[in-house]
Amino acid sequence: MSTRTNSSASAPAVRPRVVPAGLPDPAPAQNTSSLPVPTLPLRDTRARPLRDLRISVTDRCNFRCTYCMPREVFDQNHEFLPHAQLLTFEEITQFARVAVAAGVRKLRLTGGEPLLRKNIERLVEMLARLETPEGKPVQVALTTNGTLLRKKAQALRDAGLSRVTVSLDALDPVIFARMSDSTIQVADVLSGIDTAAAVGLAPVKVNMVVRKGVNDSQILPMADYFRHTGHVVRFIEFMDVGNTNGWNLAEVLTGRQILDRIHDRFPLKQLDAAYRGEVAARWGFADGAGEIGIITSVSQPFCGDCTRLRLSPEGRLFLCLFASRGHDIRTLLRSGATDAQVLHQLAGVWSPRDDHYSELRGQATVMPDKIEMSYIGG
Ligand code: SF4
Repeated sequence: MSTRTNSSASAPAVRPRVVPAGLPDPAPAQNTSSLPVPTLPLRDTRARPLRDLRISVTDRCNFRCTYCMPREVFDQNHEFLPHAQLLTFEEITQFARVAVAAGVRKLRLTGGEPLLRKNIERLVEMLARLETPEGKPVQVALTTNGTLLRKKAQALRDAGLSRVTVSLDALDPVIFARMSDSTIQVADVLSGIDTAAAVGLAPVKVNMVVRKGVNDSQILPMADYFRHTGHVVRFIEFMDVGNTNGWNLAEVLTGRQILDRIHDRFPLKQLDAAYRGEVAARWGFADGAGEIGIITSVSQPFCGDCTRLRLSPEGRLFLCLFASRGHDIRTLLRSGATDAQVLHQLAGVWSPRDDHYSELRGQATVMPDKIEMSYIGG
C-alpha cells in the first residue's frame, strides 16, 4: 500500500470491484411447485437479486447510541410500537419462507435490540427450519449490542442461530459510555462475545461505527484487541441514517483514512469479497493475525451490489436503509393469504426497485423523513 495519502490515485480502492467467478445463481424454486412462480430469483431494475432479508423484530433498545437513537429524541415520552402491531413469529416465518423461495439465502434478525423481544429463540428455531429450493438450510444471523448475549447465547445456538454480529464502538469505558449513552459496561459486551464464541458462534463479527472526534481514537485499540482472536472487526463510516443523529460530513472518517491508520501500525493486504453483496470490504493482517472489514457507505457506495430487503417490526417492507416509504405486507399476512399470494406481492415490491441512495448522497437530493435505523435495523 502506498504511503499515507487520502485516496491518492496510486492507493488501491477500499472495495475490490470483482465478484468471485462461478457464483451460481440459485435454480428456480423446485419444491414449491404450488406457487405461481415469477422469474426467480427475483431481481430488481438493476438486476440485483433478492438475497438478504433483514428482519427488525422490535424498535426498542436498552442503549441510546448517539448515531442511531439519540436520547433527546427517544426519551421517556417516545412512543414505541405496541406489541399488538408487531408481526407475530408465525407471520415473520411465513414471509421469510416465501422470501427464501424467492431467492433469499440469509436471514438477519435486527432491531432496536432483538434480544429484548421475548422468546426470540423460538423465532430463531422457526426460521432455522426453513430450507432453500436446493434443500439447503438457510443462514440465520443476528445483530445485537451484546448486553444480553452472555445470558442468551447458548439458547440461540441450540435454536439454530448460525452467526452473530455484535456492535461495539469502543473499549475505553468513557468513550463507550459516550457512544452508547448507557451505563452498561464494556466488559458485559466483551463477555457476551466470549460466550458466543464458546457456544460455537465464532467467528463473531464486531461492528464499530467510527465518528471522527468522538471514538476514532479507538480504531487501533479495537483492531489490536481482536487480532489473533478469529473475530472480525468491521469499521463503519458514520452514516446519515434517519433524521435524528445530527449527521455531518465533517465527522466522517473515510474507509481510506481508517485503513491508513491501521496499516501504519499493522500492515494489511486486500482480500477478495466472499460473495456478491458482501457489505464490508475485507482486509487481512499481513502477519496472519486475522482480518478486518471496512464499510464505506459514504465514501465508496456499494448500492450496485445491494441485495438487501428490510422487514420492519410491524410488517412494512423497505427497499433501502435510507428509504422513507415502506410497503405494507402485514395486512396480507393477517388476511390468511397463501404463500403464492405473498410471493406475488413481494415480486411486485422488489422487481421495480431502483434504490441507490448512497450514490445520490450529496447530489442535493435530500430524502425527507428517512426511516430511523433504530426501527429498521442496520
Ligand atoms: S444505500 Fe440503500 S441501496 Fe445503497 S447499499 Fe445502502 S441500503 Fe442498499
